[in-house]
Amino acid sequence: MTMRKLFRGVDRGNSSGSPRKMRTHVSKLLSLRFLGFIRGNSDGNGMDVAEDGGVPIVLTASEVEMSDFNLNLVAAFAGSFPLGFVPRWLIKRMLYPADPFDENGTASFAPYGLRKVEAILIREFGRENVVTVHPRNLERFVGPNTKVVGISAMDSLGHAFVSRTYASLLGLGGKALNRIEFEKLVSHPAILKYRPRVIVGGAGAWQIPELHMQDALHIDTVVIGQAERTVVEVFRRAVKGEELDRVIMSEPSKLEDVPTIENPALYGAAEITRGCGRNCAFCSPTMRRLVSFPLEHILKEVRLNAKRRTRSAFLQTDDLFLYKKKEHFYPNREALVKLVESVSKVEGVEYIQFPHASFAPVCCDPGLIEEIAPTIVEKAPWRWNGSRMASFEMGFETGSVRLMKKYMAGKMLPFKPEQWHDVVTQAVGILDDNDICPLLTLVIGLPGEQEEDTNATLELISKLKDNRVMWAPIFFTSEEESLLRKHKHMSLRNLTDLQWEVLSTCWRSNFDTWKRQLNPMISLISLLVYPYYRLKHGKGVFRPIMKISGLEDVLMSRRQEATLQNSHCTISANVTG
Ligand code: SF4
Repeated sequence: MTMRKLFRGVDRGNSSGSPRKMRTHVSKLLSLRFLGFIRGNSDGNGMDVAEDGGVPIVLTASEVEMSDFNLNLVAAFAGSFPLGFVPRWLIKRMLYPADPFDENGTASFAPYGLRKVEAILIREFGRENVVTVHPRNLERFVGPNTKVVGISAMDSLGHAFVSRTYASLLGLGGKALNRIEFEKLVSHPAILKYRPRVIVGGAGAWQIPELHMQDALHIDTVVIGQAERTVVEVFRRAVKGEELDRVIMSEPSKLEDVPTIENPALYGAAEITRGCGRNCAFCSPTMRRLVSFPLEHILKEVRLNAKRRTRSAFLQTDDLFLYKKKEHFYPNREALVKLVESVSKVEGVEYIQFPHASFAPVCCDPGLIEEIAPTIVEKAPWRWNGSRMASFEMGFETGSVRLMKKYMAGKMLPFKPEQWHDVVTQAVGILDDNDICPLLTLVIGLPGEQEEDTNATLELISKLKDNRVMWAPIFFTSEEESLLRKHKHMSLRNLTDLQWEVLSTCWRSNFDTWKRQLNPMISLISLLVYPYYRLKHGKGVFRPIMKISGLEDVLMSRRQEATLQNSHCTISANVTG
């Protein structure tokens, strides 16, 4: 069946040519304008599409995921926290204001994954039948002729690593902001009124079946995994009103399946690699085949984003050093240097950011860092003590060689698990020397973690105490797509004293490194909140809170000196590129 036939009913319903209908439309519009009810900063013609039947396929994401947080990626973590007593409107205004809309009310920018799905659906169903909109404008596009609302969700129910950890730690009660906004989206009046099929995909889609929330949220189908090979068939069936499975595991994509985006992505995102291949057992990207996109493919997306003034080129990857990597995970210096130089020359690119990187390639080729650092630091959005610095997230995970061998033996390739401490300390040192200060994620409660493993983690943290790093300790979460999906999540009530020590050491170190001037205030706040957290989490929180406060030595009448010595770097892998 051709798409024209498929949407025949839609075309009829969409007709807005009759003079009577036009008059009604215009007078309604004028009164709305007069009363100031037309929202957003768009609407050159004020067309209310839903009035005329709606668009067959409407794509969207929650308000929190449709914002670029004013290009502040750290602020984007706010979505993982519960609101507590802070009003939602205030957080929204401060942190995730709606990005501008285009003249017809469609979204100027949208999450990258959603833009990929949009590009695939436009190819298949035609531009006139697919639209991506901000939730604020949903009622203008969802109508009786809307067959499907496709929603992208990074963290639909606040159940990802960061949300689970900090929602429970802060103990303010209530749901994470990500969940609040997602629930608000799926219960949008336009969706409830016209009852199109609701299909949810994206990195956080797995949480819906996992938490048995599909019926409660009226979600027809959840798609888990990559979109390219699956999404057309799913939407085709949905548009035709055919049966669909409630949960669909998608087919793996191939490089040739992946189109370039048609409209700008938030943060100016452009994918440079997909997949990983280092096989960390808790991680989902490793389940995807590693591909590097051709430079022209990447630049096409960077240029499209820059033309629409995203200002930033966010080069999406699970590890920038995987880009056209050589054998044994040896980085490809020529290809990376060319990539960074080419992107930096695109007109309108003020900032370049890479989300993730790994340690081992830094040790394999320190010269690579020296070569790319000047450009990525110059194009970094971060400043500290008056100078620019770049950053990316790196998986520190644990200091335990035993756990590295068990779950992440590929993470430090071409080196050996026994060299993990040296790989991490040397890489962080090289990066720091080049003004690249990584955000280090650390997983607490990997399955089978023992006291000696936690001690090893504390030891490795201590070895980095003089470096400029930002710590992000998180609880182990078994994601649906990972090899450890059958294991239990780590939770606050199972934290041992030593694991509390890891958490508090990380946060004490963050304040000491980045906001030393706030120490008196942190001390005061810690003392004030202690009774609440004592009640909430038990007496075990005394020591961690005192550590975070910076008053541990004073109040506990003893000084805990680190007795660990930094060992000399012993990396000596014989690797050839
Ligand atoms: S190195 Fe990172 S992206 Fe690759 S498998 Fe491990 S955790 Fe996942």
